[in-house]
Amino acid sequence: MHEKCGVVGISLADRDAARPLYYSLYALQHRGQEAAGIVTHDGFQQYDHVDTGLVGDVFDNDDLEQLNGPNGIGHVRYPTQGGLGECCAQPFSVSFKSGSLGLAHNGNLVNTEEVRQELATLGHAFTSNGDTEVIAHDLARNLLEEDLVRAVKSTMSRIHGSYSLTIMHDETVMGVRDPQGNRPLCIGELDDGYVIASESAAIDTLDGELIREVEPGELVVLHPDGSGYDTYQLVEQENTAHCFFEHVYFARPDSVINDELVYEVRRELGRHLWEESGVDTDVVMPVPDSGRSFASGYAEAANEAGNDVEFAEGLMKNRYVGRTFIMPTQDERERAVRLKLNPIKSTIEGQSVTVIDDSIVRGTTSTQLVELLRDAGASEVHVRIGAPPIIAPCYLGIDMASRDELIAADRTIDEIRDEILADSLSYLSIDAITEALGKDHEDLCLGCVTEEYPYDIDGEELDRDIARPQIDSVANADD
Ligand code: AMP
Repeated sequence: MHEKCGVVGISLADRDAARPLYYSLYALQHRGQEAAGIVTHDGFQQYDHVDTGLVGDVFDNDDLEQLNGPNGIGHVRYPTQGGLGECCAQPFSVSFKSGSLGLAHNGNLVNTEEVRQELATLGHAFTSNGDTEVIAHDLARNLLEEDLVRAVKSTMSRIHGSYSLTIMHDETVMGVRDPQGNRPLCIGELDDGYVIASESAAIDTLDGELIREVEPGELVVLHPDGSGYDTYQLVEQENTAHCFFEHVYFARPDSVINDELVYEVRRELGRHLWEESGVDTDVVMPVPDSGRSFASGYAEAANEAGNDVEFAEGLMKNRYVGRTFIMPTQDERERAVRLKLNPIKSTIEGQSVTVIDDSIVRGTTSTQLVELLRDAGASEVHVRIGAPPIIAPCYLGIDMASRDELIAADRTIDEIRDEILADSLSYLSIDAITEALGKDHEDLCLGCVTEEYPYDIDGEELDRDIARPQIDSVANADD
C-alpha cells in the first residue's frame, strides 16, 4: 500500500489543538486528498474524527468542537488506486492496557509482512492490511514493558522502510523520522506551543517559526503543556536517503525541506535543464502548476545566455479537476488532461514553444499536451522535464505506477519522443539533481530513476550496504 501522506502533531499551553491541526491539514492537503483525520487528547481521554474526503469536507464546526484537548495529531491521506476506504484512513488509534495510542504515518514500510506475521503469532489481531496498524501494535506491545523512548527505539529496530510519523501516547505527542530520513518532517514553534509537521508550510500557516528538520533516526517528544520538547537520537545511520522527488514534484514550493526552499531548488533545476539541453524557442511555458518554478529558472538562464525568450503562461489550468492520477482508466485519464488544461491560443499560435513539466510518469500528460499545443497552432513543440526518466516504481510512499505503466521503463528517450510526438524531448540528469540539492548520490533515494534502492526491497537491487532488521532474532533493541 502506497502512503504518500501528510502528518502533523501539536501540543499547546491551554487551548484546544483541533483548529490549529485542521489549518495545518489544509496546508498539507496536496500530500493527500483521499481522507483526513484528527485525534486529540485532553489528559483524560482520546477523541477522534477521521473520514474520507478533503479536509474541508471531513470536518465541520461541530466535529472540531468535539475534538477536545491541547494535544493532538492529524493526517491527510493520498489517493491510491482502488485503495479508497475508511479502513485505511488515519490517524490510526488503539486503546490498550497502558493507555491510548494514535499514529499518523507518511511513508511505506518494506518489511510489513514479517512484522505483522510475528505479531500475529503473538496474538495480535489486525483490522487492515496497512503498515501503520503494524507499527501501532508493535509500539503498543513495547509500551507494556518499556518507557516511551525505549519502546519507540525497539519498534524502530524492527521496522524497515520509509516513515515520518506523528504519534500520540495518551496526551504526549511525538514525531519520529526513519533512520534514513526518506520523507520530510520538521519542528516548529508557536506562540503557545510546538508543532511537528511534514512540511514547514503547515508551520507558516499557524504563524509559527520553523525550528529545524527532525533528524533521520530522531524522536522528538513534545511536552504536553506546550512548554518545550525533548529529542533523542535513537538510531544512527551513515547515509540519508532523502526522496529527491519531494523536491521535484511532491512538496509545496513554499516549504523548506532538508534545509532548502523547494521553490529555489526547482528554479535551480530549471537552470540546469537549460544548461544541459536548452533549445532556443520563441516561448517558454510551464505545465501549471508543477512545471512553473522549473520554467522560470529555465527561462531566466536562457535569457542570461543571450537569448530572447518570452516566459508565458500558455496553458490555463482548471483547478477544480482532480489529479489525473485519480482516474482509474487510461481513457478517463486522457480526458481529464483535456479537462484540466486549456491553451491560451494567442501565446501559442505560430510560435515555437518549449513546454516544461517536472516529470513524466505514464506519459499521458505530455502526449496530450503536445497535441493540445499543436492544435493551438504551435510551430514547434519541445518538451523539457525537470527530473530524470522514471523507470521504476516507488516502494517508499509515492504512487508512481508499476513498471509496465511507466513510459520510460522500457523505452529510450527517442522512442518516448516519437510516442509523445514532440519535436524534441530532454530530461534532467541525475548529476543535476544531486548538484541542485547539494547532496551526494549516496544521501538521496533515487530508486525510481536508477532502479537501485536505499532500502532492502524484495526483488529489487540495493544500492548500499543496509541490513534489514532480523525480526525473529531481534525482540528488543539494545539500550
Ligand atoms: P503522466 O501524465 O502519467 O506522465 O504524469 C506526469 C504528470 O503527473 C506531471 O504533470 C506531474 O506533475 C504529475 N505527477 C508526477 N508524479 C505524480 C504522482 N506521484 N502523483 C500525481 N501526479 C504526479
